[in-house]
Amino acid sequence: LLYNQIQDLKGTIRVYCRVRPFLPAQSNGQSTVDYIGENGSIMIFNPLKQGKDARRVFSFNKVYGTNVTQDYYAEQIYVDSQPLIRSVLDGYNACIFAYGQTGSGKTYTMFCGALSIAFFSSLFHKGKRSLFHDLGTPIAISDNTNVNMNLMKTEGKIYGLSRGYCLSREWTDLTSEETWGVNYRALRDLFQIWRADIIKYEVGVQMIEIYNEKLNGLNVPDASLVPVTCTQDVLELMRIGQKNRAVGATALNERSSRSHSVLTVHVHGKELVSNSILRGCLHLVDLAGSERVDKSEAVGERLKEAQHINRSLSALGDVISALAQKSTHIPYRNSKLTQVLQDSLGGQAKTLMFVHINPELNALGETISTLKFAERVA
Ligand code: ADP
Ligand code: MG
Repeated sequence: LLYNQIQDLKGTIRVYCRVRPFLPAQSNGQSTVDYIGENGSIMIFNPLKQGKDARRVFSFNKVYGTNVTQDYYAEQIYVDSQPLIRSVLDGYNACIFAYGQTGSGKTYTMFCGALSIAFFSSLFHKGKRSLFHDLGTPIAISDNTNVNMNLMKTEGKIYGLSRGYCLSREWTDLTSEETWGVNYRALRDLFQIWRADIIKYEVGVQMIEIYNEKLNGLNVPDASLVPVTCTQDVLELMRIGQKNRAVGATALNERSSRSHSVLTVHVHGKELVSNSILRGCLHLVDLAGSERVDKSEAVGERLKEAQHINRSLSALGDVISALAQKSTHIPYRNSKLTQVLQDSLGGQAKTLMFVHINPELNALGETISTLKFAERVA
């Protein structure tokens, strides 16, 4: 084992809960999160109930409160998932899921930052550094590809360039993001820590979307594997994938909340001395929104989508809880998602689920069902 402490390999399923902060527009709302314990417990408060029925405690491996951020230097969330990510270089398979209702922060945890960085660095590569010059204080961000990107910090926000210089409209909303999701950090880590002196690694990436139980390739039409050699290659593929996923700017969010997106990094290593081969793969899964759709309101396409989502999320829950209980039958066949991920769920593979909750009172029902789901798989 190259990268993992033995104790990191104990237990193959972990569940981390993350509470999204109130968004600026709702800053004085009442939170349903009453208390977060050091030991991974979270207490939910229902102001509409009385006495002991008003509070309910759930327990996970970890709970992140709203104080846990993910700007470039705030690595806590990533550090807690790092052993699992590094195990991929040792030849293990791993899945990281983001679960939660739409708007609870799934994409924020998984994807933020990476896309804007891909964009900044592509500008940088084109030698357009001068665009940055009058925007504020430069802060150097060093990437594993040895590209030093100059981002600008103005009024507490990091910009790579002013909006007026955006190459295309689709980037407008991403450039003000200041956060670094698990995916970007994972890729950077994988490319940075491997030991080229001991093992020759080859890496391929695949991006797929599962929508209505159908699988679509995002970066390339046939969902095949694209070889990559650095983080930038992957980010470029993700950029293409995101673009292909978009069915129009506003539809993007809608659609992405109703499909599962899976970014898979396949690692193939050959030990230089022994010639032995190791294979590992990492799946980064941004799940469809877990909210229950009101059956009386949803009709047609919307109803079909909702049924597919409900079925596949409960199939995922069934698989993970069967694994957690060391059941002899693991029901992989019940959804496209669990079929696709079968080789990376169970056996020696490691699973991490980030469950996200929205602390607003009007999300209480979804918060409770999210936490119940998560407790079942923990
Ligand atoms: P989802 O993917 O679950 O639908 P998003 O990741 O798009 O949700 O998050 C919804 C909104 O909340 C976005 O505007 C996002 O920037 C913001 N947000 C989510 N999580 C956090 C967080 N931990 N800190 C600050 N803002 C967050
Ligand atoms: Mg999302």
